[in-house]
Amino acid sequence: MSELFTEGAPIQDTKAPDGPINERWDKRRFGGKLVNPANRRKLSVIVVGTGLAGGSAAATLGELGYQVKSFCYQDSPRRAHSIAAQGGINAAKNYRNDGDSIQRLFYDTVKGGDYRSRESNVYRLAQVSVEIIDQCVAQGVPFARDYGGLLDTRSFGGVQVSRTFYARGQTGQQLLLGAYQALERQIAAGTVKMFTRHEMLELIVVDGVARGIIARDMITGEIETHIADAVVLASGGYGNVFFLSTNAKGCNVTATWRAHRKGALFANPCYTQIHPTCIPQSGEHQSKLTLMSESLRNDGRVWVPVKKGDTRKPGDIPEDERDYYLERIYPSFGNLVPRDIASRAAKNVCDEGRGVGPGGLGVYLDFADAIARLGRDAVAAKYGNLFEMYERITGEDPFEVPMRIYPAVHYTMGGLWVDYDLQSTIPGLFVIGEANFSDHGANRLGASALMQGLADGYFVLPNTISDYLAKGPFEKIGDDHEAVVEAREAVKGRIEKLLSIDGDRTPDSFHRELGALMWEYCGMERTDAGLRKAIDRIRELREEFWARVKVPGENEELNQNLEKAGRIADFFELAELMCIDALHREESCGGHFRAESQTPDGEALRDDERFAYVAAWEYTGHAPVLHKENLEYEYVKMTQRSYK
Ligand SMILES: Cc1cc2nc3c(=O)[nH]c(=O)nc-3n(C[C@H](O)[C@H](O)[C@H](O)COP(=O)(O)OP(=O)(O)OC[C@H]3O[C@@H](n4cnc5c(N)ncnc54)[C@H](O)[C@@H]3O)c2cc1C
Repeated sequence: MSELFTEGAPIQDTKAPDGPINERWDKRRFGGKLVNPANRRKLSVIVVGTGLAGGSAAATLGELGYQVKSFCYQDSPRRAHSIAAQGGINAAKNYRNDGDSIQRLFYDTVKGGDYRSRESNVYRLAQVSVEIIDQCVAQGVPFARDYGGLLDTRSFGGVQVSRTFYARGQTGQQLLLGAYQALERQIAAGTVKMFTRHEMLELIVVDGVARGIIARDMITGEIETHIADAVVLASGGYGNVFFLSTNAKGCNVTATWRAHRKGALFANPCYTQIHPTCIPQSGEHQSKLTLMSESLRNDGRVWVPVKKGDTRKPGDIPEDERDYYLERIYPSFGNLVPRDIASRAAKNVCDEGRGVGPGGLGVYLDFADAIARLGRDAVAAKYGNLFEMYERITGEDPFEVPMRIYPAVHYTMGGLWVDYDLQSTIPGLFVIGEANFSDHGANRLGASALMQGLADGYFVLPNTISDYLAKGPFEKIGDDHEAVVEAREAVKGRIEKLLSIDGDRTPDSFHRELGALMWEYCGMERTDAGLRKAIDRIRELREEFWARVKVPGENEELNQNLEKAGRIADFFELAELMCIDALHREESCGGHFRAESQTPDGEALRDDERFAYVAAWEYTGHAPVLHKENLEYEYVKMTQRSYK
C-alpha cells in the first residue's frame, strides 16, 4: 500500500481542555479570549453555507456585531439542503422521564459511532443539545406537542429512550425557517451581507492563514474576490460523490476540497452513512434517491419472506412465513437498531435471495400492526406527509400495502479535520456542520446531524472563533495581493480549461459512472481487491474526464453544465482519497465495513490496537500523507458494539 500514501507525523487537538469531562466546555469558554463589542464591528467573517450550520452561525455572528458575508449557491438561503431533513433533532431534555441524561446521549453517540469519535467533543454536543431546543422554541419553531401541550418526542435508532424532537416529517424545514428568520433579521440590520447564487471556488490563503474566498456569480459568471479576517465553511456533506444519494442534487465537495488542496487536512473520508430506509431505485434513468425517515421505524416493522424468491404479494404471505429479521436478530433494539446495522442486515437478506420488489433489492416496512393498534388517523398524524410522498413516488399506498425500502447513501461522517475550537489545520479557517469530520465517529445516529449543525452554529463556533479574532486587527489584504491574484487566476484557468475541452461526454455521464464505481467498491461492503480496482478505474476515468468532457455554453451566463463539471472534477479527487482511506483502514467500524474484518455472525469487527485513531489526510498532489490523531477513551469503555 506504500505506493498509495505515506505516513507523516501524528496530529493532536491542542485546543481540547483536560479535567473532568463535564467541565471542559466551560473551561475552554473561560480560557478563550473575547473580543469587546466595539472591536467586533471592525472584524469580518465569511460564512460559506446557509444550511442549519451556516445559517445559524452567520445569524449569531451578525448578532454579536461582526461584519458577516454569507454565501450560498441556491437562490435563497432557506433552500439549503438542511430543508430536506425529515425525522427530528436529538436533545437530552429527558421530558419523558425515561432515563435520558447528558451522560446517556454522550454514551449512545460514542457507542453509535463505534468508538471512533472524540469524547470531549461528543460530551459538549450532548450538553449543548438542551440549549438548542430552548433556542428554537423561542424562535417559534413549531415542534410537535403532546396532548397536554408539552413538546413531544419519538425514538430514533441506536437508543432506548425517546429524545428526538420533531415537526411532523419536516423538522429540517422548520428549524431552517427559524435560522433563516434570524439571518434575515441580521441582513436587515446590516450586519450580514447575503450573496445568493454565488459559488465559492477557491480559498485565499495568505502566509498560511485563511483570508478570503474566490466566488463565481452563477448568473453573470463574474469571478469575485472576497477578503475577510476569518472564513467559516458550512458547506455540507459530499454523499453525492456516489451520484445516487438522498442528498439534494446540488450538494458537493468543492468548498472543502478546495480548502483541502490549500492545506486543510481531510479526516476519515471513507466514513459514509448508508441509510436503511430509502425508496429503492426504480431504474437506470434515476438521478436521485428518496429517504423515508428513520422515524418510521418507531412503528413500521421490517420483514422479508422466509422463503427465497417468494413472489407472492405481501398480503398473501402468512405471519409464520415472514421473517421480521431485525426483531429476530436484535431483540433489545428490534427495528430501532442503528443505521449501519439495519442497512447491512437488509443487504444480507437481499444477498440471500429474499429481497422483494424489482431485482429483489428491497425489504418491507410494514405499518399494518401500527394501524391496527393506533388507528389510521393517529398514524396519519405522525407520518402523513411521508406516506403521501411515498405514494406519489411509487404509486403504492402504505396504508394498504407495506412500503418497500432499500439502503442508500445519506450522510458523510468524514470531512475537514477540526480541533475542539472547530478550526481546521489552516489558521483562520473554521469548519462546521456536516462539512467537518464531526462528532459522529464511524456512524452517525439518527437525528444527530441537525443537533450537531445547530450546536456548531448557534453555540460552539460563536464562542471559539472569538479566541482567534481577538488576535486582530489583521493585516489589510488588497485584491492585488500575490496570493489573491494567484487564487483568482487559478479559478479562471480551470473554468477556461473545462470550457475548452469540447469533448463528447456530458459531465453527468462521468458522474454517473463514478458513482456506480463508488457504490460497487466503496459502498456498503469494501474489500482490499475491490478498493484497489476502484482506485485504478477512478484514475482512468478522471483522465478521460479531462480529455472528453463537453461543457456547452460560456462562463458569462447561467451555465449548469459548467457548475457540474467543476464539482465532478473535485469528486474524482475525493473519490480516490475515500478509497485509499477505506483501503488503509483494515478493520470494520460503523458504516465502514471491510468484508475481511467481521465477527462470526457477520457484525463489524474493529481493531482497536491498530486503528483507534482519526485518519487525517494531507494533500500533496500525488500520494497523500496520513496523519493519525489517537483516540483515547476515559469515560466510555471500548467494547464490541452489541444491540442484541
Ligand atoms: C433526506 C434527508 C433527511 C435528513 N433528515 C435528518 C433528520 O431528520 N435529522 C438529522 O439530524 N439529520 C437529517 N439529515 C442530515 C442533515 O439534514 C444534514 O446533515 C444537515 O442538514 C447538513 O447541514 P449543513 O448546514 O451542514 O449543510 P447543508 O444544509 O447541506 O448546507 C450547505 C450550504 O452550503 C452551501 N454551499 C455548499 N458549497 C458551496 C460553495 N462552494 N459555495 C457557496 N455555497 C456553498 C449551500 O448553498 C448550502 O447553503 C437528513 C439528510 C437527508 C439527505
